[in-house]
Amino acid sequence: MRTIHELTTAFAKGDASPVAVAEEYLARIGALDAKVGAYLTVTRDEALAAARAAEARYRARAPLGPLDGAPIALKDVFCTRGVRTTSGSRILDTYVPPYDATIVARLKAAGAVILGKTNMDEFAMGSSTEHSAFQLTRNPWDLARVPGGSSGGSAAAVAGGLAAGSFGTDTGGSVRQPAAFCGVVGMKPTYGRISRYGLIAFASSLDHVAPLTLDIVDTALLLGATAGHDPLDATSVDAPVPDYVAALTGSVKGLRVGVPDEYFGEGLDPEIDRAVRVAIDRLRDLGASVERVSLPTTEYGVATYYIVAPAEASSNLARYDGVKYGLRVPGKDLIDMVSRTRAAGFGAEVKRRVMLGTYALSTGYYDAYYGQAQRVRTLVRRDFEKAFERVDVLATPTTPSVAFKHGEKADPLAMYMNDVYTIPASMTGLPAISVPCGFNAAGLPIGLQLIGRTLDEATLLRAAHAYEQATPWHAKRPSLG
Ligand code: GLN
Repeated sequence: MRTIHELTTAFAKGDASPVAVAEEYLARIGALDAKVGAYLTVTRDEALAAARAAEARYRARAPLGPLDGAPIALKDVFCTRGVRTTSGSRILDTYVPPYDATIVARLKAAGAVILGKTNMDEFAMGSSTEHSAFQLTRNPWDLARVPGGSSGGSAAAVAGGLAAGSFGTDTGGSVRQPAAFCGVVGMKPTYGRISRYGLIAFASSLDHVAPLTLDIVDTALLLGATAGHDPLDATSVDAPVPDYVAALTGSVKGLRVGVPDEYFGEGLDPEIDRAVRVAIDRLRDLGASVERVSLPTTEYGVATYYIVAPAEASSNLARYDGVKYGLRVPGKDLIDMVSRTRAAGFGAEVKRRVMLGTYALSTGYYDAYYGQAQRVRTLVRRDFEKAFERVDVLATPTTPSVAFKHGEKADPLAMYMNDVYTIPASMTGLPAISVPCGFNAAGLPIGLQLIGRTLDEATLLRAAHAYEQATPWHAKRPSLG
């Protein structure tokens, strides 16, 4: 399994051909994806056409994009012009967008070869990809287990060698958690760093576009190619985008790492606790200083998120009414048609969120729930601001458990608790990354989460890269056949 930077280097030297590599990936998807279930749609013809164009640029020594010829998969939440985009939902089963999301347009401009669209929890609500309306996705490390979610297809595709890199979205952990479960790198940049234009919205104040890769250089490449101001997204950050690859100095000398007490308490799998502590020791050996910090509002994160996210979702999902696009189930009048359409088109988890959110926003409850949650959100942000007065990055586990079995978390609350360590960085919009940091006794991957200051992705990547270079984990791959 080659990384994106290995592939593009080989293309530039003439040691590999973008068309042959695209064909290899398509053949692997054809042979193995029946096992994994990572893809909802494979865009074979478009991929080969893009690969041929990339190949011609390499041959002609024409100007190259930073991802020229790199085979990439996209979560089915990004609008792709002329290619079905479902967001994992029956209600968008036959939706074909007339435009590309900014992320898709930027990837195409960077020369990427888009292999297809990956499976996900319906409207990105979930932590296991089991809430997809279409199919189950299996973890390449153990096919009886979930790949995590909601970007499970994107994580499984990278882990299983069915794409060289991918993009997902992270609203409460949906890229970091599947990255941890699948033994790959997943990074949620600062809120607004990558445009949300053309992303099918879940919770707009929390939605982040986020890459998944085999290593940190690839994360730096994907982030660099897609970050930056976009006038089409009102919350897009207008700040310069540094050269993230150049930031990978290999050194963490003098870096101050904070270890929040609240992330190592009850509910944390002891094997993860141990692996993450060993990883932090490794950062210390490499020259970082390590100190304990406290983020006292951590315990309110999940409760707060599960007010804010459903509230925003209930509002965002009001547009699926059978009128403008997507599924329509006829009824005796307008109200009947809308209610039949939504009853048939949405799955159980989406309905639960819409109901929770509608309740939280209703007259008389708005201030008690949504208003209160937004105030707690401010307190969570203050906790981080205080910690970042003393340290440069925070090191924590990404998840409290390793990948669980399909069907194991039938209780919605048990599923929600899986997000306990990823939600705070979502609520605050801070950049955070999950990097592989070992395996449990059963051979399942474990993720180390690093959280950084606003817009300081470069420091996060530098720390993650130094750690990666000093450890063997990122080089280990599952064998799928
Ligand atoms: N698991 C969380 C949820 O269900 C996060 C999902 C996400 O980040 N998209 O809301």
